[in-house]
Amino acid sequence: MNSNEIKDLYKEKIMQTYARFDVVLERGAGATVWSPEGKEYVDFTSGIGVNSLGYGDAGWAKAIYDQALKLQHTSNLFYTEPGVHLASQLTKRSGMAVAFYCNSGGEANEGAIKLARKYSFDKYGKGRSRIVTLYNSFHGRTVTTLAATGQDVFHNYFFPFTEGFVHAEANDFDTLAKAADGACAVMLELVQGEGGVLPLDTAYVQKVAEFCKEKDLLLLADEVQTGIGRTGTLFAYQQYGISPDVVTFAKGIAGGLPMGGILTNEKCAGVLSAGTHAATFGGNLISSAGALEVMRRLTPEMLDEVTKKGAYIRDAVRGWNCPAVREVRGLGLMIGISIAGAKPIDLANKCIENGLLMLTAGADALRMLPPLVITYAEIDKGLAILKKVLEEAL
Ligand code: PLP
Repeated sequence: MNSNEIKDLYKEKIMQTYARFDVVLERGAGATVWSPEGKEYVDFTSGIGVNSLGYGDAGWAKAIYDQALKLQHTSNLFYTEPGVHLASQLTKRSGMAVAFYCNSGGEANEGAIKLARKYSFDKYGKGRSRIVTLYNSFHGRTVTTLAATGQDVFHNYFFPFTEGFVHAEANDFDTLAKAADGACAVMLELVQGEGGVLPLDTAYVQKVAEFCKEKDLLLLADEVQTGIGRTGTLFAYQQYGISPDVVTFAKGIAGGLPMGGILTNEKCAGVLSAGTHAATFGGNLISSAGALEVMRRLTPEMLDEVTKKGAYIRDAVRGWNCPAVREVRGLGLMIGISIAGAKPIDLANKCIENGLLMLTAGADALRMLPPLVITYAEIDKGLAILKKVLEEAL
């Protein structure tokens, strides 16, 4: 089928829950993708931070192929090998104690919320179930994680939302401390992704972590977008000098296969006991095989490269002194450009017309989440397109 035929069929047969870009993608290699007609795009999106190893990665493809020939899925009623190797890797490299697997970021956060409430219930009984999250956060699309999300635009239509979430201003410790009355946990994205690529201040995060320890509130780090090497360390909290009680991850873990999960420290390891939480597909063997390959490739050298490439992109954009660029922010290869005088979505569409896939974030930002393996040649090619679009914007 050609691009127009595919788009027409989509409009007819698929629920229109997405405002899609006007592009059909057929194949990719590294950080480059092509339409059915052969139009080439540099990809600064990686499927919204998912395809850590880019497209057509032979090692990843072999890992999932080999696993598919052995066993694809068994349910969690049986023991299998890949998931436990993955948990060993994740816990060793994060300092956490145990893992739980599910299928997406929203589901991982839902599990973390259940865990926090049960921890508190087991220890203190009823009445201590609130969870503090930040304004401008994004934690998922289930009814509960929408309630956790600190943006009112998401609090529509689906009433009643799950009770028990209070929101505090980011980087304002006093409002968080006040909001924490009757709470069992605080949940943070260390870099607010969907909200605009806004890194939290380190001193604030450290103060919140101390406060949580003092009050026995669980600190939940939502690392769905920041985790698995995206910010230049396996998890972003490793750059913030804190040790959360619970960490959630998804997106980049399995290199493009659906997988999410929860890591907890020793204190919380036994909270979700048999029968209290589950996911049929959680730890699916093919996703686990893909994830093991991602983890194998995320060496300290590769993570250093992520840091360097991120700095290279940020420095380049800052160096253009372009009036449309208000601010360049982010960590590692999670980058936001706040835009003045133009709509980010219009610029993203212009980038696409010119051969660069680009995301937006929050009200004012373009966002880049390229594959972690993107080459400098691909970065330069993408940046040249972005520069032209930004220069023509004003
Ligand atoms: N948490 C954060 C920080 C996210 O960025 C996202 C998705 O963008 C989610 C949760 C939800 O993840 P998923 O779409 O996999 O459910």
